[in-house]
Amino acid sequence: MGFKNILVPYDNSEHANNALKEAINMASENPEAKIHVVEVVAPPQDLVYSSINQTGFGMGVSVVAKGDFAKVVEERNAEQDKELQDTIADVVEGFPGALTAEVVFGVYAIETIIETAKHYDCDLIVMGSRGLGAIRGAIGSVSYGVLRSAEIPVLVVK
Ligand code: ATP
Ligand code: MG
Repeated sequence: MGFKNILVPYDNSEHANNALKEAINMASENPEAKIHVVEVVAPPQDLVYSSINQTGFGMGVSVVAKGDFAKVVEERNAEQDKELQDTIADVVEGFPGALTAEVVFGVYAIETIIETAKHYDCDLIVMGSRGLGAIRGAIGSVSYGVLRSAEIPVLVVK
């Protein structure tokens, strides 16, 4: 018994860090266990063509030529992956199992977290009860949404 494929949604908060530590503890008991750390960030708006956000007068100027768009997005995403991996390096150091850490673009964090868990065929989500949001309360909107919509067990860590 034991979870083999754990998703840790990570937002750079202290709570998410606690969740990651907890996931590592759980996964360390099982030599086959894998951990996927995922941070959802907004798609790069500054690269997206928009007649409104470029000039405000309905005359759009695309900042990246069409052909380069995918390349630029991919490069930026790779930099963000690296940043995330550096951020969690101390916490994950010494974890014997397989661990991936990546930044994914998503408009709705809850939906993106659930889709990512499906993509990796995860059997558990371990996340913080709160995140970077300033409002105080028992549970943040992302944890609440994931808890409500996920079809796999969710462990919410304080
Ligand atoms: P709110 O965002 O509702 O103001 P909050 O920031 O305090 O409140 P949540 O955003 O729900 O609380 O964060 C709870 C947990 O959800 C975090 O500890 C983290 O595990 C996860 N999480 C939140 N935002 C993201 C994100 N953008 N990408 C990945 N995981 C996230
Ligand atoms: Mg938040």
